[in-house]
Amino acid sequence: MILQIYLIYMKKIVPLILLAFLCIYYGCKKDQVLDCNQYSNDFTVDSTKISRKVIIIGIDGFRSDAMQQSICPFMYNLSLNNNVYYTPNHIVEGDTYSGPNWSSLLTGVHYDKHSVTDNSFVGSDYTQYPPFFNYIEKISSNINTASIVNWTPINEFTLPNSVDYAPQESINDSIVFEEVKELLINSNPLSPDILFIHFDELDATGHTYGFSPFIEEYKSTLNRIDSYVNGIFNIIENKRLDGEDWICFIVSDHGGVGTSHGDANNPKVNKTIFYAQHPTVEFKANYTSNQTDLAATILNFLGISNPEFDCKTDGISIIE
Ligand SMILES: [Zn+2]
Repeated sequence: MILQIYLIYMKKIVPLILLAFLCIYYGCKKDQVLDCNQYSNDFTVDSTKISRKVIIIGIDGFRSDAMQQSICPFMYNLSLNNNVYYTPNHIVEGDTYSGPNWSSLLTGVHYDKHSVTDNSFVGSDYTQYPPFFNYIEKISSNINTASIVNWTPINEFTLPNSVDYAPQESINDSIVFEEVKELLINSNPLSPDILFIHFDELDATGHTYGFSPFIEEYKSTLNRIDSYVNGIFNIIENKRLDGEDWICFIVSDHGGVGTSHGDANNPKVNKTIFYAQHPTVEFKANYTSNQTDLAATILNFLGISNPEFDCKTDGISIIE
């Protein structure tokens, strides 16, 4: 008899209690989003900062311990500079696919909110959690935004309604570099104020030969990407001499071990590099960034404040 009552309890009551908790949890989450949305038009803009410029260089599959002088001398030296933010311990999403991580970098929320859980992008909620570009475009459509990517799902799924120029045809890393030069030097087809770039061949090399600073192919691919980054920084330095006020980021989605990045518990996978540089801005010291901090940092740098974003984001600005 007691056993029977116990079984009825287990079969009927426990699922009901669980269901009640789930309803409360998801109900609250939905209410939170609606609460945030009431602020969608409350923007404050710092007129001394809104004309600043931003470049984000994304390098897919950058394992932190490959940041070495002999492999990528330009970026290695950048990381040693004073007055920059650099960490090899940047925390990636608990879900270590590329899709969730690039989505968190671009939206400023963790994957439980933007709901991208793999590279299919099925179920994504960019309507409630839009990329940071949307907040910028909402303030001024005169700000030119562009995204040049090797891995096209970013422009197909994450940014198609967010960025002025986001071509979707598949291009390799050397063409990414050429197109970035066309934009920055020749303003073709526009002169970008906010530019996102994505190099994918380090990840592809990792999947084929192994993600490791001891694998020749991984090292030589990173060395080649380092020369693209060097070229891009030289262009930005010239623009600074012309009086333009640029901040530069180097970011990645995950590390890797063996030929995969599926082991979310392995620090060679769940940590990667994160770098920010500006001639005068001071960055937080002794802070370990995560994927949701990029968006907040960019809006802060541009002097854009919006309680809807503040209400939704999981990140903080790394600017002091
Ligand atoms: Zn990958």
